[in-house]
Amino acid sequence: MAHTFECPECGNPRGMQGACRQCGSEEMPQAHGDTLVLNLKHDNPRAEEALDRLTLALRRATEVGIKVMIVIHGYGASGEGGRIKWVIHDALENNYFSDRVHEYRFGEEIAFGTEAYHALLRRRPSLKSHLKHFKEGNAGMTVLILGSHARIA
Ligand SMILES: [Zn+2]
Repeated sequence: MAHTFECPECGNPRGMQGACRQCGSEEMPQAHGDTLVLNLKHDNPRAEEALDRLTLALRRATEVGIKVMIVIHGYGASGEGGRIKWVIHDALENNYFSDRVHEYRFGEEIAFGTEAYHALLRRRPSLKSHLKHFKEGNAGMTVLILGSHARIA
């Protein structure tokens, strides 16, 4: 995700969160495109830490105009690292993120060419380049469509 965001002050590529490493600006970065890949597995955090990171990233992503987030959480193998997937699935199913996440699709539900896959691409064509490789789906990731639920009081 290194080049997904740009600093509005110095124009250098920067991350979504924190200050610009080039100029220290804390201005909201500008997003290129509407899709963000968030890898929660790369440094093997504890599951609770991964959930905290997702919470922060979701808050920021909705602020900078990201519309869809692909969360890489791994396949849910045994061991501490494998818990990340289940903690995130649980949080989604219990509406923990319902103020930020309008809809979600687990990777195994959106195998290339299925009806669910095409329905998702109609809504978010930018996902195609991320999903077209996964003929069997990819159980190591979940797609989040950002935006709040329209609630009826
Ligand atoms: Zn900068």
